Amino acid sequence: MPKNIEVKRLPKDPGPAAWNSILPAAPEYPALTSDIDADWVIVGGGFTGLAAARRLSQLVGDESIVLLEANKLAEGPAGRNSGFMIDLPHDLNSETYAGAHEHDLQQIRLNRAAIRFAHDMAEEYEMDSKVFDPCGKVTGAGSAKGQAHIESYRHHLEALGEEYRLMSLGDMKDWTGLDFYRQGLYTPGAVMIQPAAFIRQAAQGLSERVSFYENSPVIHIDLGNPHKLVTPKGSVKAKNIILAVNGHIQSFGFFPRQLLHVFTYASMTRALSDKEVTRLGGVGDWGILPADPMGTTVRRSSDFMGSGHRVVVRNHATLNQNMEVNSNNIRTAQKLQDKAFSNRFPMLNGIEMEHRWGGRLCLSWNSMPAFGEVETRIWSAACQNGLGTVKGTLSGMMAAEQAVLGKSDMLSEFLIHQAPAVLPPEPFLSLGAKVTMRWKEWQAGIEL
Ligand SMILES: Cc1cc2nc3c(=O)[nH]c(=O)nc-3n(C[C@H](O)[C@H](O)[C@H](O)COP(=O)(O)OP(=O)(O)OC[C@H]3O[C@@H](n4cnc5c(N)ncnc54)[C@H](O)[C@@H]3O)c2cc1C
Repeated sequence: MPKNIEVKRLPKDPGPAAWNSILPAAPEYPALTSDIDADWVIVGGGFTGLAAARRLSQLVGDESIVLLEANKLAEGPAGRNSGFMIDLPHDLNSETYAGAHEHDLQQIRLNRAAIRFAHDMAEEYEMDSKVFDPCGKVTGAGSAKGQAHIESYRHHLEALGEEYRLMSLGDMKDWTGLDFYRQGLYTPGAVMIQPAAFIRQAAQGLSERVSFYENSPVIHIDLGNPHKLVTPKGSVKAKNIILAVNGHIQSFGFFPRQLLHVFTYASMTRALSDKEVTRLGGVGDWGILPADPMGTTVRRSSDFMGSGHRVVVRNHATLNQNMEVNSNNIRTAQKLQDKAFSNRFPMLNGIEMEHRWGGRLCLSWNSMPAFGEVETRIWSAACQNGLGTVKGTLSGMMAAEQAVLGKSDMLSEFLIHQAPAVLPPEPFLSLGAKVTMRWKEWQAGIEL
């Protein structure tokens, strides 16, 4: 007897996807308004869905591929993140426990394979260096505590034989125009993207091979052979499905009590005037990740397609297991971001934030992905543990390979992971997370 899946919740994203808002009007893809057939359906048009679409298109000959996105492409978390595609894990464990060295190296190898895949996409679809810039990344410290974090990370990089360069206070000032950062740590393997432009251009390139439907949330699936995916105005009968919906995999009934739904928040200034740009100094485009994991990420971007020069600050995290934020969350984030901005950019005092927003991450207790065949011919590529530009790309590629090839060298390496661990019960989980996150934010001090 075929079973049904009722999708319990659809994505709700607080505020605008600012990286998308500052671009010229986006190309429109139709909503699904009829009943169609396809060999493959991908649900979700973020990094994971697009990587799955591209890898499938390389593997399945002329079989048909449909992608259904609940909202507009680049409006979800994919178009509202800070745009760091990072090859190195945030926490390096080498020297901490036996086997950790190999684990770190394996993560780095897989992350780099995903970045290469994205790089090929960027080349194939002729993305500008403002959209995809393989410039590496800088972690910045504004306090002695931040410097201690950098020192410890540097130590791990040495142990792994990874390349890095330390940046002095003077280097940081020349680069950013700011007095705030005492030290930086540069590593060369990361890429900075304009996330919304990347998603738009990748989709445009893929659209010759893949049929995209926007504003077409999957609300119901009849399981069978083929499966039938129902949207508000149409349906697709398809043999194979890849669910690339990150935390919303739980809304489809999979991985219950195993996923943490965390929101993080950002603010973007209005376009700076020429005078303000001169007052700021430094180079036109840069990004800094905080040395303290609970600190503030900052990006400055110069004009791209009429967007103007802008500054973006991101900080604050809340656990919202109902996958919706409340007005309190937004107010706190705004305060913290205004403070972070004025601490770093005193020369831009009084400049208003034009866009404020939040976005969803999906984490698991043991940092494992929610991956694999969850029903006959339905694969999950979800739970990117906060680093979805890379991990999502990787899991989209891997879901396509698992679904089509069954096995591959990279898949064997990728599949060495456990299932996401079961979470502590409520209310302990949410209360515990709240106290821990606020405590860590407080401890981050000036790095926040
Ligand atoms: C402020 C902020 C900063 C961040 N900074 C970074 C960063 O610098 N680097 C980094 O790697 N990551 C960053 N992230 C995280 C990153 O954005 C996510 O990990 C990433 O977007 C996950 O990719 P994904 O494709 O798996 O999921 P998503 O991007 O969430 O895409 C899933 C898509 O599925 C769609 N969907 C859900 N349900 C349905 C349904 N029923 N039917 C149809 N479609 C559906 C959603 O609308 C969504 O578009 C940041 C996130 C935020 C919010």
